[in-house]
Order: sequence, then C-alpha cells, then structure tokens
Amino acid sequence: MNLILLGAPGAGKGTQAELLIEKLGIPSISTGNMLREAIANGTETGLKAKSYMDNGLLVPDEVILGIVAERVAQPDCSRGFILDGVPRTLAQAEALEAKGVRIDHVVSIEIDDSVIEGRMTGRRVCTKCGASYHVVANPTKIEGKCDLCGSEVAIRKDDTPETVQKRLAVYHAQTEVLKDFYAQRKLLRLVNGDQAITKITDEILEVIGARV
Ligand code: ADP
Ligand code: ADP
Ligand code: ZN
Repeated sequence: MNLILLGAPGAGKGTQAELLIEKLGIPSISTGNMLREAIANGTETGLKAKSYMDNGLLVPDEVILGIVAERVAQPDCSRGFILDGVPRTLAQAEALEAKGVRIDHVVSIEIDDSVIEGRMTGRRVCTKCGASYHVVANPTKIEGKCDLCGSEVAIRKDDTPETVQKRLAVYHAQTEVLKDFYAQRKLLRLVNGDQAITKITDEILEVIGARV
C-alpha cells in the first residue's frame, strides 16, 4: 500500500501519518521532518534547505527528489509507505511517476484556510522524532515531552502567523494542482479535515479500503 497524504500546512498530514503507521504497519516518509533533521545535523541537504524553510518557501525539487528516492529504496518500504508532504509540486509528482514509484491512493485532507491559524499557533513538535501535538486539540500526556520518545516538544520556527500565510499561499499556488493531477489518474480521495482526529483516521481507512 503506497499512499500520499496531501493537504495545506496544518491540515493534519503528520498527525494522520503517525496514526496510519500503526494501523497499516508501514513507515511514513515526511520530507519536512527529514529536512528539519538535516538542518539539526548540519548536513549539506540541511544547509541547502534552511533559508527556504525559514521563509515559508518550497525547497528546490532536486533536493527533495534526492532524499525521497533514497528513502523509498530502503527495505522497510518494501511493503508500502506513506508520503507525508511530498510531492508538493507538479515537477515532483511527475518525477516520482517517471522513476516508477507506484502510488495506490492520494488522500487529500481538506480544510478551510480560516482553520489553519489556530492549528499552527497551538502546534508543538517533537524536536527528536517530529511527532506533532496541539496544546488544546492533542496535548502531550506529560507537559512538554513527546508521548512517543520523551524528548522536548517545541514551536516550529516557521509556524509564525506571517510565515504560515506565506506557506498557505505557496500551497494554493504550487501544490493544490496535484489534486487535478491525481484525479486524472483516478487516485484522488478526499476526506474532511475539520473533524476529530480519530474520525479523520477512520475516513482515511475507509477511502483507501483498509478499514478493519
Ligand atoms: P507542513 O506540514 O506544516 O506543511 P512540512 O513539515 O511538511 O510542513 O514542511 C515544512 C517546510 O519544509 C515547507 O514549508 C518547505 O519549505 C519544506 N518542504 C517539505 N516538504 C517539501 C517538499 N516536498 N517540497 C519542497 N519543500 C518541502
Ligand atoms: P500538517 O502535517 O498537515 O502540517 P499537523 O498534523 O502537524 O499538520 O497538524 C497541525 C496542527 O493541528 C497540530 O498542532 C495538530 O496537533 C493539530 N491537529 C491535527 N489534526 C487536527 C484535528 N483534526 N483537529 C484539531 N487539531 C488538529
Ligand atoms: Zn518524539
């Protein structure tokens, strides 16, 4: 089962990916998390990506395609994977297709722009594993500590209101066209992202035909 999670920043892709890992037993590939890790480790990829990310712009396609191609080729992806936050441009989608990366379902988590700001101001992410929380909607069990790995959770540098607005504009300008691209290939499934987290997971499992 190879899945893509599509949606605006703050739609809930990362949150759903974490839940789907457990339900489906396949790994999630989050380009955002991989890039933040690369920045924290001071790698070449991290150096290339940092200024784009801090400014709410997309990192160049060739940087993204390099890290994704390497990751999907790893053994733990042989039974399937969840792409969280990639592809994000038509060029990325076309390149994945050209590389022969098979996709079974593209789930678009639909959410109105007006809901996003509240999501982002309350978002806290694990500095180690990238798990996403919300101070009201999905708090950590122990304040300030990740439920999954116990590390510190923090506010993301790009979750300021100005940068969030910019990322939303980038989503509408560069990413939203992917819905048409995948609809043409009969792979697009829509779910309502403005409901309880567990309800959304149920809907996703239903649209991908995996409800147990
Ligand atoms: P969100 O889930 O809030 O949209 P992500 O963690 O997915 O945020 O992405 C954070 C930033 O990382 C993006 O604003 C962008 O700069 C960069 N990024 C992540 N994935 C991609 C991608 N597939 N293509 C280009 N840039 C990306
Ligand atoms: P994305 O990966 O699409 O940028 P996240 O999964 O990080 O989005 O979610 C953005 C913020 O919204 C996080 O703080 C998360 O805890 C919260 N969130 C996710 N899904 C929901 C939901 N269904 N209802 C309320 N808050 C949510
Ligand atoms: Zn963690």
